[in-house]
Amino acid sequence: MAIRFDLEPELAALVQRIREFVRDVVIPVELACKGSLHDAPDAEDIRRRLQAEARAAGLLAPHVGERWGGHGLDVRGQAAVFEEAGYSLLGPLALNISAPDEGNMHLLERVATLAQQAKYLAPLAAGDVRSCFAMTEPPPGAGSDPRALATHATRVEGGWRIDGTKWFITGARGAAFAIVMARTSGAPGDRGGATMFLVDGGNPGMQIVRDLDTLDHALFAGHSEVLLKIAWSPTTRSSARSTAASNTRRCVWPRRASPIACAGWASPAAPTTSRWPT
Ligand SMILES: Cc1cc2nc3c(=O)[nH]c(=O)nc-3n(C[C@H](O)[C@H](O)[C@H](O)COP(=O)(O)OP(=O)(O)OC[C@H]3O[C@@H](n4cnc5c(N)ncnc54)[C@H](O)[C@@H]3O)c2cc1C
Repeated sequence: MAIRFDLEPELAALVQRIREFVRDVVIPVELACKGSLHDAPDAEDIRRRLQAEARAAGLLAPHVGERWGGHGLDVRGQAAVFEEAGYSLLGPLALNISAPDEGNMHLLERVATLAQQAKYLAPLAAGDVRSCFAMTEPPPGAGSDPRALATHATRVEGGWRIDGTKWFITGARGAAFAIVMARTSGAPGDRGGATMFLVDGGNPGMQIVRDLDTLDHALFAGHSEVLLKIAWSPTTRSSARSTAASNTRRCVWPRRASPIACAGWASPAAPTTSRWPT
């Protein structure tokens, strides 16, 4: 079947609106802050201001479904819109389609439970919070090849314990939650065995070690090394048990799970998606 590359009138009109928005609203801000948000003290103000303007223009998070405030674009529509937003370094942030939030929204919309969507997807799509995605690990851990995944999640009474180190985690600093890739079976080198955990940002077992220097200066909050020593505390154990039980479900791994970091995943298993209670 031939793929059509011409845009339907409605999509073409949306693309045009984004082009004008980026030109008139985003580019001036990019010029003022030189496209650098890693260390800018007013970065959060800039993010909120740009996203408020995008919201008012009906352009915020255009990729998610209408119930989450978006336009429910298919992949072709997303490509056209994302390309237009990418004309400015800050365009994706302004439209709330920047990594890692865009991929996390996509993932949560596809596989999260209704309760998880209400708690994590709704505020993320609205631009009220940011998130991060924690897969990559220092050598010899996971990077291009997820079989190397070394972070372990082990069942403990009432929940899970997660141990590992992640790095290059974009937006970890100040993120309201992280989607953490951890191995619940097998050993590094084995295929499969990976699970995604939703970990709330305030979890004391998730600590930022340092920020890594990269060529990028535009992605919000930079790229951090994160130490994971997550365990249930005795005081939260009873509530954790009931929350985990009601929010844990098995799901089929989506082949296009998170465009940021999972594109190379080789062996979709049937991982458990768990909400991590605080
Ligand atoms: C600016 C920036 C932001 C990032 N943000 C995030 C983030 O938010 N979250 C996150 O989890 N990660 C993030 N990353 C990490 C990124 O996902 C990894 O850099 C990427 O997956 C590659 O992994 P690596 O750097 O460990 O390289 P490696 O995996 O070490 O790869 C190096 C080279 O070896 C090749 N290679 C690796 N394994 C094999 C194999 N088995 N067979 C053949 N060839 C192989 C690769 O193709 C590549 O050419 C970010 C990176 C950058 C630079």
